[in-house]
Amino acid sequence: MTDKDCILIAGAGPVGMTTALALTKAGIPVKLFDALAEIPADHRASTLHPSTLMLVDELGITPELIRRGIESPLFQWRDRATDRIVAEFDYRDISDVLTYPYALQLEQHKTIEITRDAALAFDCFELHRERKLTDLSQDEDGVEISVKAPDGSKEIHHGRFLVGADGGRSMVRKLLDIDFPGFTWEERFIIVSTYYDFEKAAGYRYRNYVAHPEQWCAMIKVPGEHSEGVWRALFPAFSDASDEHVLSDEWIQARFAECYPYDPPYELLHRNLYSVHQRVAATFSKGRVALAGDAAHVNNPLGGMGMNSGIHDGLNLAKKMEEAWHGGDHAALLARYDRQRRPMAEKYVQAQSIANKRLLEENDKEARETRLKELEFAATDENAKRDYLMRASLVQMVEEANAII
Ligand SMILES: Cc1cc2nc3c(=O)[nH]c(=O)nc-3n(C[C@H](O)[C@H](O)[C@H](O)COP(=O)(O)OP(=O)(O)OC[C@H]3O[C@@H](n4cnc5c(N)ncnc54)[C@H](O)[C@@H]3O)c2cc1C
Repeated sequence: MTDKDCILIAGAGPVGMTTALALTKAGIPVKLFDALAEIPADHRASTLHPSTLMLVDELGITPELIRRGIESPLFQWRDRATDRIVAEFDYRDISDVLTYPYALQLEQHKTIEITRDAALAFDCFELHRERKLTDLSQDEDGVEISVKAPDGSKEIHHGRFLVGADGGRSMVRKLLDIDFPGFTWEERFIIVSTYYDFEKAAGYRYRNYVAHPEQWCAMIKVPGEHSEGVWRALFPAFSDASDEHVLSDEWIQARFAECYPYDPPYELLHRNLYSVHQRVAATFSKGRVALAGDAAHVNNPLGGMGMNSGIHDGLNLAKKMEEAWHGGDHAALLARYDRQRRPMAEKYVQAQSIANKRLLEENDKEARETRLKELEFAATDENAKRDYLMRASLVQMVEEANAII
């Protein structure tokens, strides 16, 4: 690969990796840089929505994702205060518009691994690990980036375009001086996993949202390292509690016991505490550089939209860059990318993830009942159900984005 005759990507998370695969499959040379030596196996996104499975179909990885994941057509909303299942939704109810009428439960690091292995089959793909982007500049012809190697030395690389898929703290976004307005939730979120089978014990589906004015939670099943099946719970950790306290066995056991009263202690496998933000970048592109995924927008995980909408960004962007690579007007193409994806991040991902959290935590009794009744109605009325599933699957977001000229 001659230097400059490639597209540069910073960040080999799910978004950078799928963008890289889409470009290499189109025959475009890609150099992908990541600060880390390995793919982190920590607890992050766990759900691929039906819209994402359809979009990645053209990358040829869907069969392998399905082979390693758990098909999950059903999801539930419960109310712990009244101990009832408020609503159950089934993606098979919109199977006329879905190739895969289910969400796929699969740990984020496995999605990255599968995508990486597919990209490595192409000669025009280069993966540079332990290479942290530290600087960038651009002119009319291309982009120059500086990356730092583990020994502290600096390398310079050139490309026609740069994709900033370097996560929520994106260096690319900072170097481009792009504003990232929004807010940070006061409480942190803790993800904990156990082998305890909540389906067998209490009829949970593989994705469940449990409302409660003080201690709401989300309960999700993932395959686990050896397909043994692992349950992940997400709880809010309020700001007056120390990290040490909320990470203690005692605190976690008490939260699990609230979800399902069970005498012996739950076997705890992993725990992960993190701060959660709702932010959208002021623009998704500047010159020959574009942002995608968490670098462009971050949100809470309720509804599983962060990684999914990020992959949608990356695949949309890859198409624009492919056209620009073959002589298209890059300024017009990247402006269209911004027009198609930025409003969607606001209208669907931010709005829905915030609404999901508000619904789970509502503590005004009347408002709470009203919201739960709306949800109940959405699960039973045919038209309302269809609307809900079209939004939850992110199919409506993709269709609306594609219609923007
Ligand atoms: C702790 C945590 C828990 C989460 N839990 C959930 C969850 O339960 N459910 C859910 O739906 N979503 C969850 N998310 C969100 C989801 O993981 C993200 O939406 C998703 O990872 C976005 O993918 P990405 O590729 O845009 O960014 P990332 O996955 O963050 O990948 C960015 C990559 O860029 C690399 N990088 C960063 N800076 C540089 C640099 N300067 N140079 C080169 N490389 C760089 C990083 O090493 C990383 O590999 C979680 C996020 C976090 C941080």
